[in-house]
Amino acid sequence: MNQVTTTILGYPRIGAHRELKRATEQYWAGRIDAGSLRQTAAELRRQTWRELSSAGLDAVPSNTFSLYDHVLDTIALVGATPERFAGAADPYFAMARGAEGVAPLEMTKWFDTNYHYLVPELGPETRFQLDWSKPLAEYGEALQMGIETRPVLLGPLSFVLLAKATTPDFAPLQLLDGLVELYAELLERLAAAGVAQVQLDEPVLAADRTQEELAALRRAYARLGSLSSRPRLLVATYFGQIGPALEILAHCPVEAIGLDFVSSPANLEALAAIGGLPGKTLVAGVVDGRNVWRTDPARALATCAALLGLCDRLVVSTSCSLLHVPLDLRAETSLEPRLRPRLAFARQKVDEVVRLGRALNGEETITADSGATERFLNPRVRARLDALGQGTPRAPHAERLAIQHAGLVLPPLATTTIGSFPQTGEVRQARADLRAGSLDQAAYERRMEAEIDRVIELQEDIGLDVLVHGEPERNDMVQYFAEQLDGYAATEHGWVQSYGTRYVRPPILFGDVSRPEPMTVRWAAYAQSRTNKPVKGMLTGPVTMLAWSFVRDDQPLGDTARQVALALRDEIHDLEAAGIRIIQVDEPALRELLPLRRADREAYLAWAVAAFRLATSGVADSTQIHTHMCYSEFGEIIGAIGDLDADVTSVEAARSKMELLGDLRASGYSRGIGPGVWDIHSPRVPSTEEIENALRTAVAAVDPALLWVNPDCGLKTRGYLETEASLRNMVQAALRVRRETA
Ligand code: GLN
Ligand code: ZN
Repeated sequence: MNQVTTTILGYPRIGAHRELKRATEQYWAGRIDAGSLRQTAAELRRQTWRELSSAGLDAVPSNTFSLYDHVLDTIALVGATPERFAGAADPYFAMARGAEGVAPLEMTKWFDTNYHYLVPELGPETRFQLDWSKPLAEYGEALQMGIETRPVLLGPLSFVLLAKATTPDFAPLQLLDGLVELYAELLERLAAAGVAQVQLDEPVLAADRTQEELAALRRAYARLGSLSSRPRLLVATYFGQIGPALEILAHCPVEAIGLDFVSSPANLEALAAIGGLPGKTLVAGVVDGRNVWRTDPARALATCAALLGLCDRLVVSTSCSLLHVPLDLRAETSLEPRLRPRLAFARQKVDEVVRLGRALNGEETITADSGATERFLNPRVRARLDALGQGTPRAPHAERLAIQHAGLVLPPLATTTIGSFPQTGEVRQARADLRAGSLDQAAYERRMEAEIDRVIELQEDIGLDVLVHGEPERNDMVQYFAEQLDGYAATEHGWVQSYGTRYVRPPILFGDVSRPEPMTVRWAAYAQSRTNKPVKGMLTGPVTMLAWSFVRDDQPLGDTARQVALALRDEIHDLEAAGIRIIQVDEPALRELLPLRRADREAYLAWAVAAFRLATSGVADSTQIHTHMCYSEFGEIIGAIGDLDADVTSVEAARSKMELLGDLRASGYSRGIGPGVWDIHSPRVPSTEEIENALRTAVAAVDPALLWVNPDCGLKTRGYLETEASLRNMVQAALRVRRETA
């Protein structure tokens, strides 16, 4: 029988007490020097290696640590630092954050996770130059502790395909062959230093790839595999099914291939279909690296048993790096006791991998723990959803529009905002004091009401048409609702890296979702009582509620989305009953959850749209439903925007200068649209003229009765100074263009 071994693909870097954030930010602020930042980093790495090797893993990775981001590290490794950073005092952090007069690299989401990477810039001017110091140094550090590690590198194909071109007609793929030579040199260096195995991550293989890209994959690994003196190579793939790339890799001269059997159990059939990996090692991702659930041992063992016959050697592993989950469940002291046995964070997942390995080698038997499979079901929610089905659709939009116009009496080019107003120090302090118990509920509510009074008065004074309460009571647009819904739990220390030193603590959606009480009605109704203008109610949509949480995996996402939608439907009903006539359901994550493979997208959009409609279709025709998205490039979701059946959609547009209006119209979208006219990501105040010009462009493409005037996004992170000035200019511009079009 094969001897099964164990490993993981990567581990959190941030430290149990967010040490990396603290040290990095202190370094940026000039309070500590580079040496002490390096010391903290080295200590975090040592802790990780100590933990991983004492947990009993057979192979421990290195070079998974990063001071900011592993793609940024790769840019440094291959010397692809763009010219504009050459003069910066610290080019590495300048690429991440910008420097005096120098714009940082763009940042974007790492596949369909909530991690963000820095986008390499490649062009004809790019000259690679190898700097192997980081992987080599980290390997050496671990070796000094007596731990032999496997350095992890971002693979060359993924590096070029994740990059953006610096000139329009340049394809970064052109640089692959040159880059592969650099990797060849690196592998030889590492081999010379005694490195026995290297992991090359190629996550881009989980998305659709062209023939040209697949040919490049074959070339790259044929070349790297042919080096006479090199470490053994593990090509790790994750985040989905790798399709035709599997057969290519199977025939490349690499020793091991990593496949993710959690996000794509179909990788098993694909492997069987090509006759397995004779002569090769299979690193089987059977422990979910990006969700917080305990592994079902029976299922994982069955998968491994099937895989044993499809490879020479089996290595039990995580589906991807554990970077995407919190560090250690043991840090949580106040989790619901029933929930705890269902959870595994990074440290616990390492134990799971080790135990699965032992079980496969016959050294241990794993008995199923009944607590680990308990489901948290709510029969009432299920019965209500069964009875509702898809809900009854609303009347056709044109009919609704007429009724809404008569009821709301809004001018053409109506002005509004996206929901939040600047969160002042006092507001944050009041929330913190309430949590700490130093402010009682009644006093807290008075503070919030005072803040709402202020925000309403300001909006009336500025002359906005549709007002908001300003969201002072919300810490975060998902967490705020998660805290009030049954079926969701919060963690105390469950931090995961979103980008750089920004960490988030996603709530855990563990069971059937229901709404014990109204969540926002109190604040919306109070705000409405202070003005005669309509106040817009503000909710977070079902897709976004899932996208920014850890979500149960015991039923399809679409079923979970329906439960969240039902809770929102009830909330919307209550808002309507409390006299709120316009309700906005934000879905900024609609595009984020789009599956990596084209073939899966239609099914996703179908359930995403259905959930939104279920949430919003219970209202009277006179109630106006708005939605909001934080981007202007809709790409493949453009058709879904209309399908949501919202009366008005607000989107980011300030930077892209209204180009999206043409795209939207071409897609058949014919409802209300609020293209943002103020880029709220910067404190710059847009002039009245500038906004007027944008609006004139918009009026040329959209019926003024359907055109809304608003900023790009919420104002939570802005200051009052620029907020007030910008909103005044916005209202002035709307008034002028309104007069022109009248
Ligand atoms: N209503 C939210 C706000 O204004 C929307 C935030 C978002 O789109 N991300 O803050
Ligand atoms: Zn937004």
